[in-house]
Amino acid sequence: MTYCLLVENVWGAHVTHGVIEYRGGQRFEIPYGPAEREWVLALAEEVRQWRRMSDVPRDHQDFWKCRRCGYNTPGVCGQSLDQVAHGTDPPSAQASNRNR
Ligand code: SF4
Repeated sequence: MTYCLLVENVWGAHVTHGVIEYRGGQRFEIPYGPAEREWVLALAEEVRQWRRMSDVPRDHQDFWKCRRCGYNTPGVCGQSLDQVAHGTDPPSAQASNRNR
């Protein structure tokens, strides 16, 4: 939808849909109209607000998402759920330590 907005703004074209085409040739038409345009603009504004904040609250409780995250480094992300990267045992190791 963001590309639809860009095409509208840069080329002045009236865009009614976008197309996603996968490598295998599967095509999906994505409807685009005033409601989708407003949604993209509102989301962009939300992102701008987050970028002005010194920290953005984590939006999940997924340990594995943090484990695989490129920002999962002490001093970079203070909200990681991956305790290994932040100097303590992961939940699984803590559980096995309790069983000793
Ligand atoms: S490590 Fe930090 S930035 Fe990465 S997913 Fe977890 S909370 Fe988000």
